[in-house]
Amino acid sequence: MPPIAYLECYRCHARISPQTPQTVCTQCGDQPAGSLYVRYDLSHLQGTRPQEVIAQETSGSSAGMWRYRSVLPEVRPVTLGEGWTPILKSKRYANVFVKEEGANPTGTFKARGLALAVTMARHYGLRKLAVPSAGNAAGALAAYAAAAGIEAHIFMPRDVPFANYVEAVAYGANVTLVDGLISDCARIVGERKQQEGWFDVSTLKEPFRIEGKKTMGYELVEQLGWEYPDAVFYPTGGGVGLIGMWKAFEELEQLGWVRPGKRPRMIAVQAAGCAPVVRAYDAGSSLCKMWENASTFAAGLRVPKPYGDAIILDILKASGGIALAVTDEEILASILDWARNEGFFLSPEGASVTAAYDKLLADGTLKPTDRVVLFNTGAGLKYTDVIAEAMKLQRP
Ligand SMILES: [Zn+2]
Repeated sequence: MPPIAYLECYRCHARISPQTPQTVCTQCGDQPAGSLYVRYDLSHLQGTRPQEVIAQETSGSSAGMWRYRSVLPEVRPVTLGEGWTPILKSKRYANVFVKEEGANPTGTFKARGLALAVTMARHYGLRKLAVPSAGNAAGALAAYAAAAGIEAHIFMPRDVPFANYVEAVAYGANVTLVDGLISDCARIVGERKQQEGWFDVSTLKEPFRIEGKKTMGYELVEQLGWEYPDAVFYPTGGGVGLIGMWKAFEELEQLGWVRPGKRPRMIAVQAAGCAPVVRAYDAGSSLCKMWENASTFAAGLRVPKPYGDAIILDILKASGGIALAVTDEEILASILDWARNEGFFLSPEGASVTAAYDKLLADGTLKPTDRVVLFNTGAGLKYTDVIAEAMKLQRP
């Protein structure tokens, strides 16, 4: 594991010391301050064979996303077995792979980012962490905080999937349900954190959630034989997964670990009832405007203005990607389609992506021969109440 060289601001490129816990850039002159990226000196790995480096790293008890510990901070991990999730081939589409993030601890991709954020929090000696969440980050923070013996203070909308509330309470977190959206929860954390002594682990307001999520990029490339696919579809709420994967691609190229080729087109998928990134993309804008009256049963997509909007939009542009929205009806139809025809119980966020794939195939944006990775960011089982409601299904 390499020592962290410095933290770099995405906006102004200032270098910030990693010796003490950091949130966002302290050097950006104007608001909002830029998110911080973790940078290392990886020159000793340049030209190595990834298979050999990983084999060395996984000889002990380290597996899961820690198979990439040679490109993660030098610390003792707080781990519950996150990462190295299956990549499953579709039975119907020859070139479609589903990255099954529902196989993570707490049932979603959020485990990766929060495993690393809590690992670093323990390393820094932080005692109280706070997070606003659309649901799944809450469950993941609660679990890792419990594993690390750290307090978790969680703020989430009152109507999150019930599983998110139950798990957070079961893990012993301090849970507050808020009448509002994640943006309202974020405001409360922001107002109270100083007085309460909370460290804010909000999406893109601390550097290590991106760093944990980048392992998804390493994994999909390794699982495809150290090659890029043609496109990656990602359900985009806060967008950290997309941002983390793009960072992984940059590092993989520096290391020479990926076969030379074009980076995948990054396809950001949102719900029609909350699509700030799609609206900004369509308008050719570099920032999102707050989406009013956000509403969708894909709880993770109810993010009216992602903090990382500028980064997400930059990545879409750089990759030749696009942003598109699907309706809740299309999401539900795709949940049932994939459950009945493939045996996958997708989360609503995951099914937004499968629905979007169908659309882009139908309109010719993608060809059936294009190799694509669709992210199912969470297990459908975490959403039984909201999916049942959408299906108008009642216990007999
Ligand atoms: Zn800055």
